[in-house]
Amino acid sequence: MTNNKSENSQNMTSPRYMGIPTFNRTPLINNYSEFDIAMIGVPYDGGVSNRPGARFGPREIRNSSTMMRSIHHVTRTNPYTLCRIGDAGDVPFNNVYDLEAAHKNISQFFSTLHQNGILPLAAGGDHSITLPILRAIAKKGPVGLIHIDAHTDTWDTFMGSKLMHGTPFRRAVEENLIDPAHTIQIGIRGAQNSSEGWDFSEKSGMRVIFMEEFVRLGLNSVIAEARRIAGNFPTYISFDIDGIDPAFAPGTGTPEIGGLTTIEAQVLIRGFFNLNLIGADVVEVAPPFDLSGNTALVAATIMYEILCLLAEVFSKR
Ligand code: MN
Ligand code: MN
Repeated sequence: MTNNKSENSQNMTSPRYMGIPTFNRTPLINNYSEFDIAMIGVPYDGGVSNRPGARFGPREIRNSSTMMRSIHHVTRTNPYTLCRIGDAGDVPFNNVYDLEAAHKNISQFFSTLHQNGILPLAAGGDHSITLPILRAIAKKGPVGLIHIDAHTDTWDTFMGSKLMHGTPFRRAVEENLIDPAHTIQIGIRGAQNSSEGWDFSEKSGMRVIFMEEFVRLGLNSVIAEARRIAGNFPTYISFDIDGIDPAFAPGTGTPEIGGLTTIEAQVLIRGFFNLNLIGADVVEVAPPFDLSGNTALVAATIMYEILCLLAEVFSKR
């Protein structure tokens, strides 16, 4: 079966409650050469510090993503007419009880996508999955990072482990996968037992925007700051759903009140148009704590917003 843009459009005309729920009702990818952008499930939560459940994220986001339509109401972008978009399925794991082995599985999967010139848009999984994704796509040198999260995720170790969901961006700096000078962290808040992560982010040269500064600056200034820091540098977007206030997205392992509203998150993402984007992820959706299902809907919508950006970037290459 040959995928093309019209197949994407065809999928959009069938009733949304029918068929196998791939991400945004896109075709399942069985031949990488026929696709430009892939959405990928990474159902792994072996790196959590507290409440597990993000392993169920991709399945529930796929289900909620059947609510997504095609034409963006502000930008009038229709990503499906700009490039070939599909669902690459879930990363296959052969040992979920060994975190390093699981991370290798993730890196291998994303390396293959990367070698085929495909832009990845991943759904986690806990935030530890971003490190092996960066290992796969930052092989030629460090990339920039726009990171939306309540937490900087730059701690050193937890319970003796250097690989967990509070440490990926410290490891990414150590491994030269991200350039702190081209990294911005937005939405940071909540008490910690040690300031080590915040300190590392700031000392390394990252721009850290705590929620209080976000409110003081306002959305437009935060967008301008992110665009200044990203510049023309190849930039990855990592969106932890706990960056959004738990009033909107309660289904996550480590919620922190006082976060972004959904409209703030949407307008923020739209502000990243025409940056040199190389991929993105939305992580930490934990359906067992998502009693209304709204967190999965928020995540699916954030993925759609990012998909519009990636499609525009791809179409201008
Ligand atoms: Mn995180
Ligand atoms: Mn977080």
